[in-house]
Amino acid sequence: MRAALQSEIGQDKLEVVDDMEAVGFGPGKVRIRIKATGLCHSDLSAMSGVLPQPAPFIPGHEGSGVITDVGDGVTSHKIGDRVLVCWLPPCGHCPSCNRGQGHLCLEAFGNVATPNFKRAASDIFGFAGTGTFSEEMVVPAACAIPIPDDLPFDIAALIGCGVTTGLGAAINTAKVEAGSAVAVIGCGGVGISVIQGAKVQGAAQIIAVDPVRSRREAALRFGATEAVSPEEFADAKNRITAGEGFDYVFEVVGKSATAQKAYEMTRRGGSVVIVGAGALDDNFQINMFSLFFDEKKILPSMYGGGDVLRSYERTIALWRAGRIDLENLITHRVSLAEINEALDQMRTGVALRTCIEL
Ligand SMILES: [Zn+2]
Ligand SMILES: [Zn+2]
Repeated sequence: MRAALQSEIGQDKLEVVDDMEAVGFGPGKVRIRIKATGLCHSDLSAMSGVLPQPAPFIPGHEGSGVITDVGDGVTSHKIGDRVLVCWLPPCGHCPSCNRGQGHLCLEAFGNVATPNFKRAASDIFGFAGTGTFSEEMVVPAACAIPIPDDLPFDIAALIGCGVTTGLGAAINTAKVEAGSAVAVIGCGGVGISVIQGAKVQGAAQIIAVDPVRSRREAALRFGATEAVSPEEFADAKNRITAGEGFDYVFEVVGKSATAQKAYEMTRRGGSVVIVGAGALDDNFQINMFSLFFDEKKILPSMYGGGDVLRSYERTIALWRAGRIDLENLITHRVSLAEINEALDQMRTGVALRTCIEL
């Protein structure tokens, strides 16, 4: 079957091959025919080495498809089920899951270090234990979340990572209060989802901050009340919050420099929400006086910061009710053969989300 392969970390292009094999099928596993997959910024970060990932590997962790085979002991799924891929499924019985923090469950994390593809007798890993830039994939049944018939595959794929991450940061982690002033640094697919989450929560002001003009324009269409470049951010803060700072600033880039900026732009007692996935060697520093005296809350948000299954359901309900727009989040569509164009669209910032149809 066909898949997009990266042989070594640091390469910026993928090779589309047609002799890949999905391996590991057996008890507790399901085989999925992937129908759609989104390109998330984390895929680029894994390719470049910012996020740890063994190679060679198949990127992609935001996908959806149809179950084509069910291993022994799997009673929750059947052939033909439409599913979205959850790259970090909660096990349901560990201490994190018991606390209602299924997004912090590490039970499935072992999948990351287990090769789930093979090509010419060599082991191939899948990004984050999945690898959705492939026509077929074998994963534990818990990674395949059944979806309703009215949810199209392209939108379902996005709910598997970017949309859940962004909406959850605003709704679960920050619990944005109605009437508040919010700023969002970084307005790709995840940042736009933060904006939509802040809007659902009733924020009065939502300021989008991004260097790319097309993203600023998109942010306004999705609910931002104003969109500024990074250079205009300080002025916007002074004008909108009378110099005090925003109630919430979301960092959706994954760099210490933007996290520092987010901290600076947050009012005393406000919340800095870290959504971007950054590098192991990029350290964020704050002096101890400010940490104590300004009482700004630093709230990291991983994969939506809450029970992912509950977050998926909520997202589907909001989408069905027309309260959030997921259709227009997909700005580009490509086939697997055009995957390198999709990577470039992501790097230059012209795409909010590129959907790869398989
Ligand atoms: Zn668990
Ligand atoms: Zn992602």
